[in-house]
Amino acid sequence: MPYLSLEGVAHMSEANGTIMKAENVVKLFPVKKSSLLAALTRKPPDYVHAVDGVSLDVQVGDTIAIVGESGSGKTTLARVMLNLIEPTSGKVIWRGKDVSTLDKNELFQFRKDVQIIFQNPGGALNPRKSIFRILSEPLKLHFNIKSGSELVDRASEALLAVGLNPAIHLDRHPHEFSGGQRQRICIARALSLGAKIIFADEPVSSLDVSIQAQILILMKKLKEEFGLTYIFVTHDLALTRSFASRVYVMYLGEIVESGPVEDIFMEPLHPYTKLLLASTPVPNPKRARSRETIIPVGEIPSPINPPPGCRFHTRCALAKAICKTAKPVVKTVGNRSFACHLVN
Ligand code: SF4
Repeated sequence: MPYLSLEGVAHMSEANGTIMKAENVVKLFPVKKSSLLAALTRKPPDYVHAVDGVSLDVQVGDTIAIVGESGSGKTTLARVMLNLIEPTSGKVIWRGKDVSTLDKNELFQFRKDVQIIFQNPGGALNPRKSIFRILSEPLKLHFNIKSGSELVDRASEALLAVGLNPAIHLDRHPHEFSGGQRQRICIARALSLGAKIIFADEPVSSLDVSIQAQILILMKKLKEEFGLTYIFVTHDLALTRSFASRVYVMYLGEIVESGPVEDIFMEPLHPYTKLLLASTPVPNPKRARSRETIIPVGEIPSPINPPPGCRFHTRCALAKAICKTAKPVVKTVGNRSFACHLVN
Protein backbone atom coordinates (compact mmCIF):
# COMPACT_ATOMS: atom_id res chain seq x y z
CA MET A 1 0.00 0.00 0.00
CA PRO A 2 2.60 2.59 -0.99
CA TYR A 3 0.49 5.74 -1.31
CA LEU A 4 -1.55 5.53 1.88
CA SER A 5 1.41 4.23 3.89
CA LEU A 6 3.51 7.21 2.88
CA GLU A 7 0.79 9.63 3.94
CA GLY A 8 0.51 7.74 7.20
CA VAL A 9 4.22 8.12 7.92
CA ALA A 10 3.90 11.83 7.30
CA HIS A 11 1.15 12.05 9.92
CA MET A 12 3.02 10.08 12.51
CA SER A 13 6.15 12.18 12.15
CA GLU A 14 4.26 15.30 13.16
CA ALA A 15 5.21 16.38 16.69
CA ASN A 16 2.46 15.99 19.26
CA GLY A 17 0.81 19.29 19.97
CA THR A 18 -2.08 21.49 18.97
CA ILE A 19 -3.00 20.96 15.33
CA MET A 20 -6.21 23.03 15.32
CA LYS A 21 -7.84 25.56 17.60
CA ALA A 22 -11.05 27.53 17.81
CA GLU A 23 -10.52 30.85 19.60
CA ASN A 24 -13.61 32.58 20.91
CA VAL A 25 -15.60 31.66 17.80
CA VAL A 26 -18.94 33.41 17.37
CA LYS A 27 -21.38 32.65 14.56
CA LEU A 28 -24.61 34.62 14.33
CA PHE A 29 -27.16 34.14 11.55
CA PRO A 30 -29.43 37.10 10.75
CA VAL A 31 -33.14 36.33 10.90
CA LYS A 32 -34.73 37.35 7.62
CA LYS A 33 -37.69 39.70 7.81
CA SER A 34 -39.64 41.18 4.96
CA SER A 35 -38.34 44.64 4.12
CA LEU A 36 -41.82 46.07 4.75
CA LEU A 37 -41.97 44.57 8.23
CA ALA A 38 -38.44 45.77 8.96
CA ALA A 39 -39.36 49.30 7.79
CA LEU A 40 -42.55 49.35 9.85
CA THR A 41 -41.09 48.01 13.08
CA ARG A 42 -37.72 49.79 12.75
CA LYS A 43 -36.29 47.19 15.05
CA PRO A 44 -32.63 46.18 14.73
CA PRO A 45 -32.28 42.78 13.03
CA ASP A 46 -32.53 39.63 15.13
CA TYR A 47 -29.79 37.03 15.10
CA VAL A 48 -29.68 33.32 15.79
CA HIS A 49 -26.81 32.85 18.25
CA ALA A 50 -25.66 29.50 16.83
CA VAL A 51 -22.16 29.59 18.33
CA ASP A 52 -21.28 32.11 21.00
CA GLY A 53 -17.69 32.43 22.16
CA VAL A 54 -16.45 28.88 21.79
CA SER A 55 -12.78 27.96 22.25
CA LEU A 56 -11.36 24.49 21.88
CA ASP A 57 -8.01 22.82 21.26
CA VAL A 58 -7.41 19.80 19.07
CA GLN A 59 -4.21 17.88 19.76
CA VAL A 60 -2.58 15.60 17.18
CA GLY A 61 -4.09 12.12 17.56
CA ASP A 62 -7.06 13.31 19.65
CA THR A 63 -10.55 11.97 19.25
CA ILE A 64 -12.78 14.82 20.29
CA ALA A 65 -16.52 14.57 20.73
CA ILE A 66 -18.65 17.71 20.60
CA VAL A 67 -21.92 16.68 22.21
CA GLY A 68 -25.24 18.37 22.87
CA GLU A 69 -28.90 18.37 21.90
CA SER A 70 -30.13 19.35 18.46
CA GLY A 71 -29.80 23.10 18.12
CA SER A 72 -26.86 23.34 20.51
CA GLY A 73 -24.63 24.70 17.72
CA LYS A 74 -22.25 21.76 17.40
CA THR A 75 -22.66 21.31 13.64
CA THR A 76 -22.31 25.05 13.03
CA LEU A 77 -19.10 25.03 15.07
CA ALA A 78 -17.79 22.15 12.92
CA ARG A 79 -18.70 24.03 9.73
CA VAL A 80 -16.83 27.09 10.95
CA MET A 81 -13.78 24.98 11.85
CA LEU A 82 -13.91 23.37 8.41
CA ASN A 83 -13.90 26.86 6.89
CA LEU A 84 -17.19 26.14 5.13
CA ILE A 85 -18.73 29.24 6.71
CA GLU A 86 -16.99 32.30 8.12
CA PRO A 87 -17.21 33.07 11.81
CA THR A 88 -18.88 36.34 12.78
CA SER A 89 -15.90 36.87 15.09
CA GLY A 90 -13.11 34.80 16.59
CA LYS A 91 -10.56 32.65 14.82
CA VAL A 92 -9.87 29.12 13.70
CA ILE A 93 -6.16 28.35 13.89
CA TRP A 94 -4.71 25.59 11.73
CA ARG A 95 -1.10 24.65 12.50
CA GLY A 96 -0.48 28.04 14.07
CA LYS A 97 -2.10 30.09 11.30
CA ASP A 98 -5.45 31.85 11.20
CA VAL A 99 -7.50 30.00 8.57
CA SER A 100 -9.00 33.26 7.29
CA THR A 101 -5.51 34.46 6.33
CA LEU A 102 -4.39 31.34 4.42
CA ASP A 103 -3.24 32.05 0.87
CA LYS A 104 -4.50 30.04 -2.11
CA ASN A 105 -1.90 27.26 -1.78
CA GLU A 106 -2.29 26.97 1.98
CA LEU A 107 -6.06 26.84 1.64
CA PHE A 108 -5.69 24.08 -0.96
CA GLN A 109 -3.55 22.12 1.52
CA PHE A 110 -6.09 22.80 4.30
CA ARG A 111 -8.90 21.41 2.11
CA LYS A 112 -6.86 18.24 1.57
CA ASP A 113 -5.80 17.80 5.19
CA VAL A 114 -9.15 18.53 6.83
CA GLN A 115 -11.91 16.24 5.62
CA ILE A 116 -15.46 15.48 6.67
CA ILE A 117 -17.71 12.45 6.60
CA PHE A 118 -21.43 13.10 6.81
CA GLN A 119 -24.38 11.56 8.58
CA ASN A 120 -25.97 10.43 5.32
CA PRO A 121 -23.33 8.78 3.11
CA GLY A 122 -25.95 8.35 0.37
CA GLY A 123 -26.22 12.11 -0.03
CA ALA A 124 -22.43 12.54 0.02
CA LEU A 125 -21.80 10.35 -3.04
CA ASN A 126 -22.82 11.39 -6.54
CA PRO A 127 -25.27 8.68 -7.68
CA ARG A 128 -24.31 9.13 -11.36
CA LYS A 129 -20.62 8.42 -10.86
CA SER A 130 -18.83 5.11 -10.39
CA ILE A 131 -16.84 4.59 -7.20
CA PHE A 132 -13.67 4.92 -9.28
CA ARG A 133 -14.72 8.40 -10.47
CA ILE A 134 -15.83 9.40 -6.99
CA LEU A 135 -12.42 8.48 -5.60
CA SER A 136 -10.25 9.58 -8.51
CA GLU A 137 -11.63 13.11 -9.10
CA PRO A 138 -10.36 14.57 -5.82
CA LEU A 139 -7.06 12.74 -6.39
CA LYS A 140 -6.68 14.39 -9.80
CA LEU A 141 -7.48 17.77 -8.32
CA HIS A 142 -5.25 17.60 -5.27
CA PHE A 143 -2.29 15.58 -6.57
CA ASN A 144 -2.51 16.50 -10.24
CA ILE A 145 -2.32 12.82 -11.21
CA LYS A 146 -2.65 12.24 -14.93
CA SER A 147 -1.81 8.53 -15.06
CA GLY A 148 -4.89 6.33 -15.17
CA SER A 149 -3.07 3.39 -13.62
CA GLU A 150 -1.90 5.48 -10.65
CA LEU A 151 -5.45 6.64 -10.09
CA VAL A 152 -6.65 3.04 -10.14
CA ASP A 153 -3.86 2.04 -7.73
CA ARG A 154 -4.63 4.84 -5.29
CA ALA A 155 -8.40 4.33 -5.42
CA SER A 156 -7.91 0.56 -4.96
CA GLU A 157 -5.64 1.08 -1.97
CA ALA A 158 -8.15 3.36 -0.32
CA LEU A 159 -10.94 0.84 -0.86
CA LEU A 160 -8.81 -2.00 0.51
CA ALA A 161 -7.99 0.08 3.59
CA VAL A 162 -11.71 0.36 4.40
CA GLY A 163 -12.37 -3.33 3.77
CA LEU A 164 -13.87 -3.21 0.27
CA ASN A 165 -12.58 -5.28 -2.62
CA PRO A 166 -11.64 -2.93 -5.49
CA ALA A 167 -11.89 -5.68 -8.09
CA ILE A 168 -15.59 -6.00 -7.29
CA HIS A 169 -16.52 -2.49 -6.24
CA LEU A 170 -14.52 0.05 -8.23
CA ASP A 171 -16.88 0.12 -11.21
CA ARG A 172 -20.11 0.05 -9.23
CA HIS A 173 -22.35 3.00 -8.42
CA PRO A 174 -23.41 4.20 -4.95
CA HIS A 175 -26.96 2.76 -5.19
CA GLU A 176 -25.45 -0.75 -5.40
CA PHE A 177 -24.04 -0.46 -1.87
CA SER A 178 -25.52 -0.69 1.62
CA GLY A 179 -25.42 2.30 3.96
CA GLY A 180 -22.40 0.92 5.81
CA GLN A 181 -20.50 0.32 2.57
CA ARG A 182 -21.28 3.85 1.39
CA GLN A 183 -19.89 5.24 4.64
CA ARG A 184 -16.74 3.14 4.04
CA ILE A 185 -16.43 4.73 0.60
CA CYS A 186 -16.73 8.22 2.13
CA ILE A 187 -13.97 7.30 4.60
CA ALA A 188 -11.86 5.92 1.72
CA ARG A 189 -12.21 9.24 -0.13
CA ALA A 190 -10.98 11.19 2.90
CA LEU A 191 -8.17 8.72 3.46
CA SER A 192 -6.97 8.74 -0.15
CA LEU A 193 -6.26 12.47 0.12
CA GLY A 194 -4.08 11.93 3.16
CA ALA A 195 -6.50 13.61 5.59
CA LYS A 196 -4.96 14.58 8.92
CA ILE A 197 -8.19 15.56 10.66
CA ILE A 198 -11.52 13.96 9.90
CA PHE A 199 -14.69 15.67 11.11
CA ALA A 200 -17.43 13.08 11.51
CA ASP A 201 -20.91 14.57 11.74
CA GLU A 202 -23.12 11.88 13.31
CA PRO A 203 -21.23 9.33 11.16
CA VAL A 204 -23.15 6.24 12.20
CA SER A 205 -26.55 7.51 13.30
CA SER A 206 -28.21 6.54 10.00
CA LEU A 207 -26.84 2.98 10.11
CA ASP A 208 -28.08 -0.24 11.71
CA VAL A 209 -26.61 -0.92 15.15
CA SER A 210 -24.46 -3.87 14.00
CA ILE A 211 -23.11 -1.80 11.10
CA GLN A 212 -22.45 1.14 13.44
CA ALA A 213 -20.09 -1.04 15.45
CA GLN A 214 -18.26 -2.18 12.30
CA ILE A 215 -17.74 1.39 11.10
CA LEU A 216 -16.49 2.51 14.51
CA ILE A 217 -14.06 -0.41 14.72
CA LEU A 218 -12.83 0.45 11.23
CA MET A 219 -12.36 4.12 12.18
CA LYS A 220 -10.40 3.11 15.29
CA LYS A 221 -8.16 0.88 13.20
CA LEU A 222 -7.54 3.61 10.60
CA LYS A 223 -6.71 6.09 13.33
CA GLU A 224 -3.95 3.81 14.62
CA GLU A 225 -2.73 2.98 11.13
CA PHE A 226 -2.62 6.49 9.69
CA GLY A 227 -2.26 8.68 12.78
CA LEU A 228 -5.58 10.41 12.22
CA THR A 229 -7.23 12.98 14.45
CA TYR A 230 -11.03 12.81 14.73
CA ILE A 231 -13.61 15.38 15.69
CA PHE A 232 -17.00 13.78 16.24
CA VAL A 233 -20.16 15.84 16.28
CA THR A 234 -22.74 13.70 17.97
CA HIS A 235 -25.63 13.40 20.36
CA ASP A 236 -24.80 9.73 20.92
CA LEU A 237 -23.26 9.46 24.37
CA ALA A 238 -22.61 5.71 24.14
CA LEU A 239 -20.53 6.32 21.01
CA THR A 240 -18.78 9.21 22.76
CA ARG A 241 -17.79 7.08 25.71
CA SER A 242 -16.51 4.20 23.62
CA PHE A 243 -14.66 6.30 21.09
CA ALA A 244 -13.63 9.77 22.27
CA SER A 245 -10.66 10.83 24.34
CA ARG A 246 -11.97 14.31 25.17
CA VAL A 247 -15.51 15.70 25.33
CA TYR A 248 -16.91 19.20 24.82
CA VAL A 249 -20.51 19.64 25.97
CA MET A 250 -22.43 22.40 24.15
CA TYR A 251 -25.66 24.09 25.17
CA LEU A 252 -27.29 26.91 23.20
CA GLY A 253 -24.09 27.85 21.39
CA GLU A 254 -21.73 27.68 24.37
CA ILE A 255 -19.36 25.06 25.78
CA VAL A 256 -20.58 24.40 29.30
CA GLU A 257 -18.14 21.64 30.24
CA SER A 258 -15.14 19.86 28.77
CA GLY A 259 -12.68 17.25 29.91
CA PRO A 260 -11.33 13.72 29.41
CA VAL A 261 -14.10 11.33 28.49
CA GLU A 262 -13.92 9.04 31.54
CA ASP A 263 -13.85 11.99 33.97
CA ILE A 264 -16.92 13.49 32.34
CA PHE A 265 -18.82 10.21 32.39
CA MET A 266 -17.78 9.16 35.89
CA GLU A 267 -18.15 12.56 37.50
CA PRO A 268 -20.07 15.11 35.42
CA LEU A 269 -19.86 18.55 37.04
CA HIS A 270 -22.22 20.79 35.10
CA PRO A 271 -25.97 20.25 35.67
CA TYR A 272 -26.55 20.11 31.90
CA THR A 273 -23.96 17.36 31.48
CA LYS A 274 -25.63 15.48 34.34
CA LEU A 275 -28.97 15.88 32.61
CA LEU A 276 -27.60 14.59 29.30
CA LEU A 277 -26.04 11.55 30.97
CA ALA A 278 -29.15 10.87 33.00
CA SER A 279 -31.19 10.91 29.78
CA THR A 280 -29.25 8.04 28.17
CA PRO A 281 -31.04 4.69 28.31
CA VAL A 282 -29.54 2.02 30.57
CA PRO A 283 -29.07 -1.37 28.86
CA ASN A 284 -30.83 -3.25 31.68
CA PRO A 285 -33.98 -1.39 32.81
CA LYS A 286 -34.15 -3.45 36.03
CA ARG A 287 -30.75 -2.20 37.08
CA ALA A 288 -30.78 1.05 39.00
CA ARG A 289 -29.02 4.01 37.45
CA SER A 290 -25.68 4.69 39.05
CA ARG A 291 -26.22 8.45 39.06
CA GLU A 292 -29.01 10.66 40.28
CA THR A 293 -31.94 11.07 37.93
CA ILE A 294 -32.38 14.65 36.83
CA ILE A 295 -35.68 15.76 35.43
CA PRO A 296 -35.30 18.78 33.14
CA VAL A 297 -37.63 21.67 33.81
CA GLY A 298 -38.84 24.23 31.28
CA GLU A 299 -38.13 24.22 27.58
CA ILE A 300 -35.09 24.90 25.46
CA PRO A 301 -35.06 28.66 24.92
CA SER A 302 -34.87 30.21 21.48
CA PRO A 303 -31.32 30.80 20.21
CA ILE A 304 -32.63 34.08 18.74
CA ASN A 305 -33.07 35.46 22.19
CA PRO A 306 -30.96 33.38 24.56
CA PRO A 307 -31.62 33.92 28.26
CA PRO A 308 -29.36 36.31 30.19
CA GLY A 309 -26.99 34.99 32.83
CA CYS A 310 -26.49 31.25 32.56
CA ARG A 311 -28.26 30.10 29.40
CA PHE A 312 -29.27 26.89 31.13
CA HIS A 313 -31.06 28.62 34.03
CA THR A 314 -34.55 28.20 32.52
CA ARG A 315 -34.18 24.43 32.76
CA CYS A 316 -31.77 23.98 35.63
CA ALA A 317 -33.25 22.49 38.79
CA LEU A 318 -30.41 24.03 40.83
CA ALA A 319 -30.70 27.59 39.47
CA LYS A 320 -30.27 30.43 41.98
CA ALA A 321 -31.02 34.13 41.61
CA ILE A 322 -27.48 34.88 40.43
CA CYS A 323 -27.88 32.40 37.55
CA LYS A 324 -30.56 34.62 35.97
CA THR A 325 -28.37 37.70 35.80
CA ALA A 326 -24.69 36.81 35.81
CA LYS A 327 -23.00 34.71 33.15
CA PRO A 328 -20.87 32.04 34.84
CA VAL A 329 -17.17 32.32 34.04
CA VAL A 330 -15.39 29.27 32.69
CA LYS A 331 -13.33 27.70 35.47
CA THR A 332 -10.49 25.32 34.73
CA VAL A 333 -9.29 22.76 37.24
CA GLY A 334 -6.58 20.43 35.97
CA ASN A 335 -7.71 19.21 32.57
CA ARG A 336 -11.40 19.98 33.14
CA SER A 337 -13.34 23.17 32.45
CA PHE A 338 -16.90 24.08 33.35
CA ALA A 339 -19.13 27.15 33.52
CA CYS A 340 -21.49 27.04 36.49
CA HIS A 341 -21.88 29.34 39.51
CA LEU A 342 -22.38 26.43 41.86
CA VAL A 343 -19.47 24.21 40.86
CA ASN A 344 -15.99 24.95 42.17
FE1 SF4 B 1 -27.67 25.78 36.85
FE2 SF4 B 1 -26.89 28.16 37.79
FE3 SF4 B 1 -25.09 26.31 37.20
FE4 SF4 B 1 -26.41 27.52 35.28
S1 SF4 B 1 -24.98 28.48 36.70
S2 SF4 B 1 -26.01 25.37 35.41
S3 SF4 B 1 -28.40 27.77 36.21
S4 SF4 B 1 -26.64 26.19 38.79
